[in-house]
Formats: sequence, C-alpha cells, structure tokens
Amino acid sequence: EGFNANVAAAKALNAFIVETPEKALAAADAADKARAAGEPLGALSGVPIGMKDLFCTEGTQTTAASHMLEGFVPTYESTVSGKLWSAGAGMLGKLNLDQFAMGSSNETSYFGNVISPWRRNDGGNAALAPGGSSGGSSSAISARLCPAATGTDTGGSIRQPAAFTGISGIKPTYGRCSRWGIVAFASSLDQAGPMARTVRDNAILLEVMSGFDPRDSTSLDLPVPQWEANLSSDLKGKTVGIPKEYRPDGLNAEISAMWDRGIEWLKDAGAQVVEVSLPHTKYALPTYYIIAPAEASSNLARYDGVRYGQRDLPDGAGLQDMYAATRAAGFGPEVKRRIMIGTYVLSAGFYDAYYTQAQKVRALIARDFELAFEKCDLLLTPTAPSAAFALGEKQADPLAMYLNDVFTVPASLAGLPAMAVPGGLDSAGLPIGLQVIGKALDEQTVLNASLAIE
Ligand code: GLN
Repeated sequence: EGFNANVAAAKALNAFIVETPEKALAAADAADKARAAGEPLGALSGVPIGMKDLFCTEGTQTTAASHMLEGFVPTYESTVSGKLWSAGAGMLGKLNLDQFAMGSSNETSYFGNVISPWRRNDGGNAALAPGGSSGGSSSAISARLCPAATGTDTGGSIRQPAAFTGISGIKPTYGRCSRWGIVAFASSLDQAGPMARTVRDNAILLEVMSGFDPRDSTSLDLPVPQWEANLSSDLKGKTVGIPKEYRPDGLNAEISAMWDRGIEWLKDAGAQVVEVSLPHTKYALPTYYIIAPAEASSNLARYDGVRYGQRDLPDGAGLQDMYAATRAAGFGPEVKRRIMIGTYVLSAGFYDAYYTQAQKVRALIARDFELAFEKCDLLLTPTAPSAAFALGEKQADPLAMYLNDVFTVPASLAGLPAMAVPGGLDSAGLPIGLQVIGKALDEQTVLNASLAIE
C-alpha cells in the first residue's frame, strides 16, 4: 500500500513522457553479469538515466514535448545518448520538458505541466514549477526517481531547473557535447549537459557525454579532460570575480544573502575574491530573445507535415494548406510566438535593426567575459533571480517568464561553461542556487568551485 502510494505520488509529478524500465533493467543485468564474470565495467555500468525527450533515441518515441512530433520514433540514436549507453547506462524513460525546450517552467509541454516535488513551508501549498526547460529532469532527480538525467541548455535550461529543485547541473563549453541527434532549438547556443544530485556525479557523466563528433560541425576536436579524477575543492591560487551588474537594485534579498554566503564559502576554500564588471549584461536578455527565436524560426521550418511527425491534410487541401494546418495544430502558443518573433527579426525590413544588432551585442557580451577573465579565474553569481514560483503564476506573462533567464543567458551567448549548484534554502524552505561561470574549456575550475560550495 505504501509502495503504491509512492508510485502514485511519483507519477503525479508527470516527469516522464515515456517510461522504459526494461532498458534500465537490461543495463543493470548486464552490469551484474559483467561483474560476476570479472569483466571490466563501464563508467556508468547499470546506472539508470532519464533522457530529456529532446534527444533522439532509436526505437523510442521522441517528441520534444510537442504534438508535432507525437508518435515520431527515430531510427537513430543521438551521439550523447549513445555514449551513455556505451558506458553501461540504461534508459529509464523520456523526460518531459517545455515544448521544443522553449520555456522556464515546463508549462509549455504538450504533455502537461511537470510538478516540482518541493512545497513551501509557509502555508502556501500551491504546486511549484520545476523550472524549465529541463523540468522533467529536475523534478525526477530531486524526487529521487532517477540518480541522473540529461538536460540541454540554450539559455539556462539545465541551470535554472537545477536551482529550482536543489540539484546540480552543468552546461559545458559550447561544442563539448555533440548536438547530433538532439532536436534543434537555437543551434549556436544549444548544449547538452548532465543533471544530478552531486558535483562528482556531474563530472562523471560529463566525461562520458563529451567528445568530438564529426557529425556536428561545431563539435570541438579536443580530448576530454579527466574532470572527475582532478576534482578538488581546494581553491588556493584561484581568484573569484563577482560581477557587480548581477546585483541590481531590487535583487531579491534572500538571493543576495545566498550570494554573500557563497562568496564566503569560496574564500574558506582558499580563493581570493575581486569585483569585476560585465558592462553589457543589461543587453543580454534582449539579445538572447532575438537570436534564439531567429534560429528557432529557421530550425523549426523543417516541421512541414512531410518529413516528421504529424500531418494535417484537410479534405481537398493543397500543399500550402497542409503546411498551415499541420503547423497550426502541431505547435503550441509559445513555439508560435518564438517563430513569429524570429521571422520578424530576420525579415528584410528589420534584419539590420534587430538581428545584425543582436549579433554585434553578442560579441560585446563575449568580450566583457574575456576582459573579466583577465582579472579572475571564475565568476560566482546567483542562478535565478528567485526560488521556484507557483505553476500558473507567470504563464500569462511571457516577459515575466523571460526575466527568469537574466543570470543564465550571458554565459550561453558567450559559449562559456556554467554550473548550477545548490546554495541553500530560502525562508520558505525552497532551494535557491548559485552559478559558477568559467573560462572557455575550463570546466575543471567550474566543477572544483562547485564542489567547494556543495
Ligand atoms: N528559458 C529560456 C527560453 O525559453 C531557455 C531555454 C533553454 O535553455 N532551452 O528560451
């Protein structure tokens, strides 16, 4: 009876779109047999892993949480998921997300909201958002339904859900993890990464998921460092930069206090702390919300009713009618909003005013980080401007939702590694998260500083 109640509570989170326990059990059996036979084990032998349903998985439905791809069963495996299975892991299921990874609360999924397992302790009993877009991943891990999951992060989708649910997740340097076989959102920003309970687990997973892939033209042709073997919470000789623009007037007092505690923890670990300036920070959010929709409008043009998933073919309809009907029914409101913003900023009359301008500002934002990293080895900031909000609270106001990404999008625009690590609980008992941003390719320092905080 207790077991059944737990199963019902777990299912009520709506974290999984498809469950594949047989695959996880097969990996566990294979691990047992290999161990009994004295054969070498993979880095993830027998570990059950949840896959964000943005990764194509051969033979298992892959939807990007959209009606458009409902029933789409890939005939191929994404590079990153394939690497996990080769290391001995087994897939527990496909995890819910915001539709096409567009959102910060998991409320844009065609398959329904995901619920965070957390509740406020101050009487407010509303169901809370698990963050987004990797909300199925964050909810499942924090509810202990799986020890680890994959996420993808275009503007914060690994880090913000991790912060909302008291777990960790790392977006590596752009190009570390292959994008091949991951449903594309904004290709110049999209990066896969792990989400798990501990920094060490993230290091182990990231080592398996990373590496050169000739099928992704932006994949980095570099060896994968031994991040786990080199983990150390000793930060002697490291300098932490505190970007002053991340502490605007009106920053939530509890987030600000958490940040101050984080600074002390890094000092205790031996680091020096300096203030730095990232002067173009205030332009990061508008820049992101031009570039990401522009790329999305191009990437999502492939969903035409011919090549993938759904097709709506009204009686007597021609080709244009089929496109229109398929796309009208296949995409949710947020996806349509992004496509309209994207086609607008790319249109002949407005291209220079928006898209070209945004690309220039993106270069300035990247330059800000380069200059800051002349004075320090890593940056410490909050991950999100608040703890988890209630489901429904921001759904009607896209701008309020986009503001959630204010601390995560700058590192995405600059392609830098960034990790969310728990920073404690606020006065309502909800997790709040710190973010460590590193130099390009310096995931080691990001992981080490996160370990010192954990
Ligand atoms: N919340 C951001 C958006 O909606 C980031 C999403 C993501 O990183 N996939 O675009």
